[in-house]
Parts: sequence; structure tokens; C-alpha cells
Amino acid sequence: MAAPQQAHQSITCHCKAIRVTFPPLREPALECLCSICRRYGALWAYYKPDEVHVEGETEAYVWGKKTLSFNRCKECGCMTHYTVVGDTEPRVAVNCRMLDKEEYNKLESVESDGEGE
Ligand SMILES: [Zn+2]
Repeated sequence: MAAPQQAHQSITCHCKAIRVTFPPLREPALECLCSICRRYGALWAYYKPDEVHVEGETEAYVWGKKTLSFNRCKECGCMTHYTVVGDTEPRVAVNCRMLDKEEYNKLESVESDGEGE
């Protein structure tokens, strides 16, 4: 038998219409200070697309070079995750600010200046 997998974590938006489920963090969450992440106040954990499961309907914000799609709840407006669109390396970033308070308080994070973005 395979070793039991560590339990997945999930985040929800404020109204709980969106739920994103993902594996435990492998490194500290990243507080990116680029032009958009700073405004969102996002705190990221990065995964491959097939590791992340999104339930609920989101709407997207895509701008500029159109390589990133920031996805938010249509109801409460919480930005839960971004996905890479186009032909760059596929990636999903989960916004760890959406964790329950108990989980959020356990989180480790580092800052990145997001220069050039
Ligand atoms: Zn919501």
C-alpha cells in the first residue's frame, strides 16, 4: 500500500462560493510586491495546474502581456488564485490570504519585490 498522503488544504473566498483545494505548502508563501500583487495584498503558494482543484465560478482580470489571469469571486470579489495563460510554464498560484484564520496564522512567508512587473 502507498504511504498516506498529507491532507490537502483548501481556501475559500469570503462568501464561500469559491473553494480551491491544493497540496500542503512546500516552501514559505510569497508576498509579491509587484504592481498588482501589492494592491491585492496577495500571498502566494505555487503549484502545477493538475495539483489544484477549483470549485465555483470565478471571473478573471487579464491585462498587459496577457500571461496571467487573476481570478476572483463574482459575488464577494475575493481574488482566490491566478493562473498562467499562454505558452509560458503552466502554473497556478493560490492566494493564502484566503485561508481560515487558524491555518493562516501558522503560515510562513517571505517577501519578493516583484521588480520589473
Ligand atoms: Zn465569494
